[in-house]
Amino acid sequence: MAGEPQADCLFCKIVEGKIPATVVRETETTIAFRDINPQAPTHVLVIPKVHYPDAASLAAAEPAVIADILREAGEIAAEEKIADHGYRVVFNTGAGAGQTVFHAHLHVLGGRGLQWPPG
Ligand code: ADP
Repeated sequence: MAGEPQADCLFCKIVEGKIPATVVRETETTIAFRDINPQAPTHVLVIPKVHYPDAASLAAAEPAVIADILREAGEIAAEEKIADHGYRVVFNTGAGAGQTVFHAHLHVLGGRGLQWPPG
């Protein structure tokens, strides 16, 4: 059921502490941890503790949690000192956009020049 932990979900396992992660921040509703395959000097994923497959379904069901995720992105940018030079926040949504883990997650990328449009 949406919102419930999914047995086969990698990020639910991180939320439950069953798989290790380098956690940088945690709130009542979110966890932020370093991406295992970083694409920039700072590459942090901010995820909801509840399971929804993507950002839109999370926003539809629990809009306050999307706000929590974006607020956390701002805190991370400040802590990592990437805000002055600009940083990017991305929800890849759907396999065609490169989403491989179907538990909503916000990429926070910074610390290098970022091109637009992305590939
Ligand atoms: P993509 O793999 O194309 O970036 P997503 O947008 O679904 O697709 O992002 C999933 C992200 O999760 C990837 O950046 C990947 O490196 C990261 N990731 C996968 N497994 C782990 C893990 N165990 N710990 C931290 N990050 C992980």
